[in-house]
Amino acid sequence: MRLVLLGAPGSGKGTQATRLKEHLQVPHVSTGDLLRAEVKAGSPLGLQAKEVMARGELVSDDILLGMLEDRFSRDDMARGFILDGYPRNLAQAAALDALLERIGQPMDIAVQLEVDNELLIDRLAGRAQAEGRADDNPESVRKRLQVYDDQTAPVIGYYRDAGKLAVVDGVGTLDEVFGRILAAFERQ
Ligand code: AMP
Repeated sequence: MRLVLLGAPGSGKGTQATRLKEHLQVPHVSTGDLLRAEVKAGSPLGLQAKEVMARGELVSDDILLGMLEDRFSRDDMARGFILDGYPRNLAQAAALDALLERIGQPMDIAVQLEVDNELLIDRLAGRAQAEGRADDNPESVRKRLQVYDDQTAPVIGYYRDAGKLAVVDGVGTLDEVFGRILAAFERQ
């Protein structure tokens, strides 16, 4: 199964991806996690990305595509994958499709987790306390939600037009939302 999780920051993509990874036995590729690992390692890429991430803005498409190509060159991706945090804009969506076409592994389904803005802000505030992420401060949270609305939300239409979109209510317990995602697979 090749799937991409869509949804605003705080919509539960990472949490559901962890559960889906166990269920589907495929790698979970989070571009946010890959970038945070680069920042932590202090690599040149990490140094470039650090400030942009802390502000809640998008790291450049070139950097992201390079990282993704690198990850897709590993053998474990042949079984399928769960992509989380990419694509974040229409250019990335097109680049991803080109990459997947090149390796003969088209996307099966895009799952959009729908959560309204007020709940997202509450969840991100909770996460800021629990995890201490540099970009969970109120100003960066506002920026990330705005970037999502302006640049990432159009990606939903991209997958709808391709006939691959499944919209799932992201409000509920982990198990409830997970059950809805599995039901969406059945429908697709
Ligand atoms: P996330 O963990 O997915 O919320 O990502 C954290 C931050 O990493 C984002 O706010 C961006 O600064 C950066 N990032 C992650 N994925 C991407 C992407 N696909 N394109 C650009 N920036 C990204």
